[in-house]
Amino acid sequence: MIVPPGSTIGILGGGQLGRMLAIAAAQLGYKCHVLDPAEDGPAAQVAAGFTRAPYDDPAALRALADAVDVATYEFENLPVAPLEVLGEKLRPSARSLAIAQDRAREKAFIEECGGRVAPWRAVASFDDVLAAVAELGTPVVLKTRRYGYDGKGQAWIRSPDEAQAAWQAIGEEPAVAEAGVDFVAEFSVIVARWADGRHCFWDSAENKHGEGILRRSTVPSSDAVALQVAEAREAAVGIAEALGHIGVLTVEFFASRDGPVVNEIAPRVHNSGHWTIEGAVTSQFEQHIRAICDLPPGPTDLVGGGAVMDNLIGDDVDRWPELVAEPGLHVHIYGKGEPRPGRKMGHVTRVESAEPVRGTGEH
Ligand code: AMP
Repeated sequence: MIVPPGSTIGILGGGQLGRMLAIAAAQLGYKCHVLDPAEDGPAAQVAAGFTRAPYDDPAALRALADAVDVATYEFENLPVAPLEVLGEKLRPSARSLAIAQDRAREKAFIEECGGRVAPWRAVASFDDVLAAVAELGTPVVLKTRRYGYDGKGQAWIRSPDEAQAAWQAIGEEPAVAEAGVDFVAEFSVIVARWADGRHCFWDSAENKHGEGILRRSTVPSSDAVALQVAEAREAAVGIAEALGHIGVLTVEFFASRDGPVVNEIAPRVHNSGHWTIEGAVTSQFEQHIRAICDLPPGPTDLVGGGAVMDNLIGDDVDRWPELVAEPGLHVHIYGKGEPRPGRKMGHVTRVESAEPVRGTGEH
C-alpha cells in the first residue's frame, strides 16, 4: 500500500522522536497529526494537526483512524488493545509494540529468534527474586517488566543482602532479574524493514551511557564492536522478520567476550540513531517514513567519515549560546520547556570529515 506525499500520517506520542519524524515527513510532503496526552509537546509544535487525548481514548483513536492514511508510534508504552481501531493503518503493527513493551515477553521472543540475551528469570515476588539471585549469582539487575526507560525501574543487586532493597526500589512490581553482563562496549543495530522484507542498516553506533541514560553515540565504532556487527545484524533482522516489522527497529547490544548479547529492542527510531540526520545520506526518521509509506529505501551510507552525537541532558541545554556559535556543530533543541535533571532536552551532532583520498603519485 503506497501512501503518497500529500497524505496524512498519524503519530502516537508527542516527544522528540515524534518531532523529528514529523520534520522528516514534512520534507517529503506529508502532513502529520500527533496524538499525545500533554499539551504543547515537542512533536505537536511542528505538526499540522494535534489531538490532546489519553492514548487509550477510544473516541480520539477512532477520529485519528478516520483522519490519517497511515499511523505510527514513537513511544512503546502505549496500551495495545485500544489501537485495534487503527487496523492495517498502524505501521509497525501492534504486535511489535506488545512484545517490546514487556521485558519478559521480549527476552523470550529474542531467544525464540535465536538471539543471545543475558541469563534471566521472570520474578513476581520477593521469593522469586531470592531464587533468581541464587540461580544467576551476582551482580543481577532487576528491571520492571513494563514502563522502564532510561534506567528507570531498575535496581542492581551486587550481593544477596541487597535483594530486599532492590525489590523495594522497583516498587515490588513484576520484573525480570537479569545477570550483569561484563561488556566491552555497547552498540546498537538500527534496521529499517519494508512490508515485502527489503531491509537496510546504518553503520552501528558505539553508545556510552551514564546513570542509565545514553550520553554519546559514535560512528564508526571501535574494532571491538565492529567485529560483532555482522552477527548482531543477523540477530536484528531475524527479530524484524519474526515480528513482520514495518519501519525502523532498533536492537541494543552489549559487546561481550562471547559475542553480541541483546540488551533490548525498541520498535521505533532511537536516540542512538540521531547522528543519521546529518551523518548519513538518509536519516532514520526519513527512512521510517519511507518504509511505512512504502516509498523506496534511501541509501544509508555515511556522508563523511563518521559522526559523534551528544545528548543535552537537563541543564546541558543552557549551554546553547556556545553550542550554536560552534562552526559545523548541528544543534537540536526539542522545545520541552523546563530542563529537569535526567530529561533529554536536545542533542548535538558533529560530522567528521572524510579522510582525504591521497594520490599515490603513480599514474
Ligand atoms: P536499559 O534501560 O535496559 O537499556 O539499561 C540501561 C543501561 O544500564 C544499559 O545501557 C547498560 O549500560 C546498563 N545495563 C542494563 N542491563 C545490564 C546488564 N544486564 N548488564 C550490564 N549492564 C546493564
